[in-house]
Amino acid sequence: MQVEEILSFCTAINCLDGRAQLPVISYLTRRFGVEFVDVVSEAGPAGILACNSESQGSRSIFRRIDISIEAHQSRAIAIVAHHDCAGNPKPATEQIKELRKCVEILRKSYSNLPNIAVWLDADQKAAEIGEEI
Ligand SMILES: [Zn+2]
Repeated sequence: MQVEEILSFCTAINCLDGRAQLPVISYLTRRFGVEFVDVVSEAGPAGILACNSESQGSRSIFRRIDISIEAHQSRAIAIVAHHDCAGNPKPATEQIKELRKCVEILRKSYSNLPNIAVWLDADQKAAEIGEEI
């Protein structure tokens, strides 16, 4: 069996904030039953993607998601936002709205994979943002 067939990955579009790394990896490995999380790292990525999905910043995010899918057969995609984000300093309610918009955007391009949104609160506790809320 080839190594590639053994390893399992998902993809996180996460903030560059150091506080957001381990909680997201921990949440997503359990959520999707994968060993590894490929990270597309930006300062406030949900703000970038929700603002304009055709922008240069968004295209860069999509390019890196594609690498994760093509090279690692990523099984799922998560967009992440968090409390006290320096790159996207908006209230939680607004960031969560952006997360929902991001999931819609991601589903257009990656409809064959689960696309979820994750919010990290002030204690870096991860919670999945449901569509209905
Ligand atoms: Zn941030």
